[in-house]
Amino acid sequence: MHFTDLGIDTRLETQLAHQGITQPTDIQAHAVPTALAGHDIFAQSKTGSGKTLAFLLPAVQRVMKQKALSKRDPRVLIVAPTRELATQVFTQLRLLIAGTNIKAVKILGGENFNDQIKALRNDPHFVVATPGRLADHLNQRSLQLSGLELLIFDEADRILDLGFTDQLKLINELADHRLRQTLLFSATLDHAQVDALSRNLLKKPKQIMLSAANEQHSDIKQTLYLADHLDHKEALLEHFLNQDNVGQCIIFTATRADTSRLSESLNSKDFKSVALAGDLTQSKRLDIMDAFSRENFKILITTDVASRGLDLLSVTHVINFDLPKHAEEYVHRIGRTGRAGFKGNALSLVGPKDWASYLAIKSFLNDELSFATVEGLKAKFKGIKEKQVAPIKPTKKAVTTNKPQPKRKAKPKKPAAPIKAPLNIDGDTPMRRKKKPEQE
Ligand code: AMP
Repeated sequence: MHFTDLGIDTRLETQLAHQGITQPTDIQAHAVPTALAGHDIFAQSKTGSGKTLAFLLPAVQRVMKQKALSKRDPRVLIVAPTRELATQVFTQLRLLIAGTNIKAVKILGGENFNDQIKALRNDPHFVVATPGRLADHLNQRSLQLSGLELLIFDEADRILDLGFTDQLKLINELADHRLRQTLLFSATLDHAQVDALSRNLLKKPKQIMLSAANEQHSDIKQTLYLADHLDHKEALLEHFLNQDNVGQCIIFTATRADTSRLSESLNSKDFKSVALAGDLTQSKRLDIMDAFSRENFKILITTDVASRGLDLLSVTHVINFDLPKHAEEYVHRIGRTGRAGFKGNALSLVGPKDWASYLAIKSFLNDELSFATVEGLKAKFKGIKEKQVAPIKPTKKAVTTNKPQPKRKAKPKKPAAPIKAPLNIDGDTPMRRKKKPEQE
């Protein structure tokens, strides 16, 4: 199948061919014609399966081919939960619109507000944004959404997890005209909060559920190892990093402090690593990601700030030095490898403190998740009896695919109230369901 078979213009197909992309992936084959036909979409498909182009292609084509509703307001707004992910979406968009007169801007937290106002005055067709800063511009009226044609949420569940529900409501209200089309994408959309949101945002959406959130990823080999304590985890880590098949590697820890500590420890043993944590300045965060994507160093140590969306095909290994508290984040973390058809390895270290998370992940994935051992580094720890572990509350409802949407009830409209910007937009958020927005 070719992109033109999906209704994509030959100019865009040629642009993709320059990037070596010739055949649509599954999600693209399903989502592109559906979006081009004007439907709202609720789409879930695996990490690394080509979701970004699945929404960018119809969006660019619409701007290229259809008349604008408004000359001044942006035509397409793409909202992503983190600055890194928004930057990545923006980079792909720039490649697609190269050589056209389509204008796009990126609006991220941590960057100069006035520069963003100037960029918005230039009447861009596309705005790619993180939700907190976007809400600031909406409150200050430096951005109007009354002419918005296409609203896209990438990793919508993470946007909610980070506490940006009010910002989403504001965007929805300000861009609420009958011609608006809305697309919602993620690898893990099937939880109750997302359902509630989608009922408000989407009109008669087409559901494209290509895989359940908890389905095994055939390109990622998952292996778990028991560990007794921190030193034991470090010894296991050193053993893994010394293996010949390790290319670039992302190591996830529970907290920011752990990223720096582990990075120092690895550097002292001559493993070239860098810690990426949410409390760094935006430009430092981008510098680190840029250097890692150029393969200037082999090991990136981070928290869940980098668990979503990052797309670096040279990452052969993801190592969970600590397990994430919530199972969806496990799916996203390991999805940093095994992307675009490449094979990847996900190694997880499970100590006494990780046991509750291990049980939650095991139950979410509906998989036995047995343990492997390393000769000479076998753990004495054998796990904790289930009764003695405080369970992590499930955040998911039962996994269903292609479920019908309940009918929307017409609700009286409230005027949009100003939304306060997040207090600390740079924090790490390994936990879910925080009351206040913490990070973007
Ligand atoms: P995504 O899931 O959107 O982050 O995409 C994962 C990776 O797959 C990115 O590196 C994309 O450039 C790549 N990709 C997306 N679509 C295709 C395609 N149709 N053929 C080959 N690679 C693709």
